Amino acid sequence: MGEKIKELIGLKKNSPYVESYLRNANIKSSIYMSTVVIVLEIWMILRVLIKYIILSDTSRDFAWIVQHMYSYFILLTMGILMLLYAIKYLKTKGKVSKSLGNGLIIAFSAICLGFGIYISVLDYAGSKQILTFLTMELYVTCLLVWKPYVSFIILGFTFELFYLICSNMTEFQTGDKINLFMFWISILMTSVSIYRQRHDEGTKEERLQQMNAKLEKTAVYDDLTGIHNMQYFYSNVPEILIMAGSKVHSKVFLFLNIENFKNYNDQFGFIKGNELLTKAAHLIEETYAGSLVARQSDDHFVVLTDWEGALEKADYIRNNFYTEKDELYMGLKVGGYRPDDIYCDPRQGVDRARYASTTIKKKYDQNYQEYDQKMAEGFFKLQYIVNNIDRAVEKGYIKVYYQPVMWSDTRKLAGCEALARWVDPKYGFLSPGDFIPILEEHRQIHKLDKCIYETVCRDIRDSLDRGEKAVPVSLNFSRLDFELMDAVSFMEELVQKYNIDRHYLHIEVTESALTNDLTVLQQSIDAFREKGYEIWLDDFGSGYSSLNVLKDYHFDVMKIDMVFLRGFKDNQNSRLIIRRVVEMANDLNINTLTEGVETEEMVEFLAEVGCGRLQGYYYGKPMPVHDFREKFLTAQ
Ligand code: C2E
Ligand code: CA
Ligand code: CA
Repeated sequence: MGEKIKELIGLKKNSPYVESYLRNANIKSSIYMSTVVIVLEIWMILRVLIKYIILSDTSRDFAWIVQHMYSYFILLTMGILMLLYAIKYLKTKGKVSKSLGNGLIIAFSAICLGFGIYISVLDYAGSKQILTFLTMELYVTCLLVWKPYVSFIILGFTFELFYLICSNMTEFQTGDKINLFMFWISILMTSVSIYRQRHDEGTKEERLQQMNAKLEKTAVYDDLTGIHNMQYFYSNVPEILIMAGSKVHSKVFLFLNIENFKNYNDQFGFIKGNELLTKAAHLIEETYAGSLVARQSDDHFVVLTDWEGALEKADYIRNNFYTEKDELYMGLKVGGYRPDDIYCDPRQGVDRARYASTTIKKKYDQNYQEYDQKMAEGFFKLQYIVNNIDRAVEKGYIKVYYQPVMWSDTRKLAGCEALARWVDPKYGFLSPGDFIPILEEHRQIHKLDKCIYETVCRDIRDSLDRGEKAVPVSLNFSRLDFELMDAVSFMEELVQKYNIDRHYLHIEVTESALTNDLTVLQQSIDAFREKGYEIWLDDFGSGYSSLNVLKDYHFDVMKIDMVFLRGFKDNQNSRLIIRRVVEMANDLNINTLTEGVETEEMVEFLAEVGCGRLQGYYYGKPMPVHDFREKFLTAQ
């Protein structure tokens, strides 16, 4: 309440922006005021000069002339000073002494009001109107913007002064007193409303400016790290290449990929991960100072720089950005593309450098790879996948293969897993390894998965309609599915559309999806569970933070990764580990499934240690729906 009143009377401190907005308004007004004063005073001076001196009019004596000329000259000087200041202020965009300006405005106003009172008192005494006084009041308090309490003081003081001077005169009757009071109130109200209007305009403009600055910033800067974003990068490439001219080959597009960053996130959490990314971003920016640097996405950065010294700088970054090296190995894989044309498409340049970097992902002895013609085929395949996913979905090139899951005790069918295949007219049969990482990297995975989920639901409906046995199907969800689509609503719509029970669908998520601190993902998982879908943990043991994930979430089934079965024959340790993992899961009330079961020996061992479900080539490879029906659904 107190604050509100303070604001209304202008006692609340304005922001510097609003203050300077009001000051600018005053300076602009004072240009009009001073110009009017200068013209008027010159005219008055000329009038006196011509009438009383040149034409020797004797109706006024010399003392009268001096007295009037003196006041005209003071006003004229004040007007000129004010005008000069205002022009300088506008020219230098406010870079002149502010206190001088305030002093001038106050002095100018005081002189105007002083003369107003003086002239009108004389006029009033001579039974004339008090127009000069009122004009000056309007002039000073309505053209200039004063804070309400200042207007109140100025108007209060001058009207009171005028009142006191006139109160001795016999002409000053009640009617005039009331009129004076009404004028005082009206001018005060007008000046307050002008202040409010200007103040609101200033505040609005300030907000707009702030919004623009923010928009400008987000348009060219990366939200997380604060370095430039890709939009900025792409729009600045052409100029750099054109400037390079015939030396365009001395430039290189670099694609920097921090290796093992996901593991860092898994171990130290999302917040620490973001801190490290920001640190890396600034190190890259500083090391390639003077070059074009941007964050592409996740832990990927791009640079357009001089080829000379480019790799040494990458080495420097690799050696310096992570100091706690002993805890976790983090490498930096760099792909390069050297443009041979000044009109090289920036996106092509980045995509090629990026592709080159992916070719050395698993090569521990190689940190840099340049794009060359030999890579063209793989690169085109990648581009083909990214550019044709919509078409593949539409034309039915995406197929669902089903792999059986068996009960370990009865050795009967427990369910199956839906696995994607892309049967392409140009590239033939593609396995998930060929397209899933690419679709994930290019944030297109949800398109494929939506198609898979719908096909699965349609197949289940089909089986039910045929009177076959229908079994639950587990569906693979990528972490990005939860970001790129509303997974829960999508599944709910399918369940409605095909009228199937939710227990036919299991949601498989990997642990690495869950260790990224994504609230959307957590909410989705909770929502799935609430609706009655089973949540299965995929690939347990293939990452770093399996146990943490178990602490934070409850799963219906844990899928033990096939890495544990590697070396099953000779390595006694793997048996011991599997046994302990199953025991732990049992204690946590989680069912178990082991993947990659290939031999009878494995089956027997897993049944003995109490692993409930088995999946692997021993029972069947992933197969098309009609094979799966024939082998598993109709035969049993
Ligand atoms: P995953 O979810 O761990 O799937 C099991 C993978 O192991 C499948 O490979 C399967 O063919 C293979 N496999 C099963 N039994 C055995 C065995 O006894 N021995 C060996 N050596 N391998 C076995 P696939 O179909 O190539 O899928 C690879 C990965 O691609 C999957 O791993 C999953 O992460 C991903 N994926 C597959 N389909 C989809 C999908 O529709 N959506 C998403 N987002 N990811 C999918
Ligand atoms: Ca899976
Ligand atoms: Ca798996």
